[in-house]
Amino acid sequence: MIALESVRKVYPGGVVALDDVSLRVEAGALVAIVGPSGSGKSTLLHLIGALDVPTSGTVRLDGRDVSALSDAGLSRLRATTIGFVFQQFHLAPGRSALDNVADGLLYAGVALPSRRRQAAAALERVGLGHRLAHRPHELSGGERQRVAIARAVIGSPPLLLADEPTGNLDSAAGSQVMALLGSLCASGTTVVVITHDRDIASSLPRQISLLDGRLS
Ligand code: ADP
Ligand code: MG
Repeated sequence: MIALESVRKVYPGGVVALDDVSLRVEAGALVAIVGPSGSGKSTLLHLIGALDVPTSGTVRLDGRDVSALSDAGLSRLRATTIGFVFQQFHLAPGRSALDNVADGLLYAGVALPSRRRQAAAALERVGLGHRLAHRPHELSGGERQRVAIARAVIGSPPLLLADEPTGNLDSAAGSQVMALLGSLCASGTTVVVITHDRDIASSLPRQISLLDGRLS
């Protein structure tokens, strides 16, 4: 699903965020990317998510070299292949859980009634079938993150990328979110979870460790 070869990422200003990173993640895997703050985890996730391209080296997703794609090709790849979950949830305030999740299909060209139907089903799947009309401020942190996960997987992307998904949650809500990510993996989604938390990382079948931009 993911293949990186000798990837280097240098930001303007000269910060070497990643250096000589090569790795493969097979389809259906559940993997943690772990490392301290500043070690390059988010940079790696941005490259895997086709949100950015490497300075040198190659990133292949599902066999496609992301550096070879046009902007339109990258957008299409992201829309069809990848779901994103972030620490800060990034839900639209003042909009219902149902509409926040339905927005996950905005770029897939699906009509609103069908988007809402699929959103309700996705919220059922994350255990929030009883919270469809709630707005983000009426939900707990754990519930907000589960709404964000429902939005990320509504189009059934083969790859789910989560950057510190439990970073703003207490440990009980964090465990629920990790269990949900595990069940998505069990139903066939490749899941990559970034965390600085060694306990969370070691609860997953595979860990990729970063230190100062290198695999360690
Ligand atoms: P992590 O997610 O592990 O905390 P990051 O990937 O965010 O690490 O950052 C890795 C390094 O790259 C850090 O030194 C950070 O300051 C630097 N960095 C991240 N993003 C940028 C950017 N857009 N421009 C310049 N430097 C950046
Ligand atoms: Mg980060």
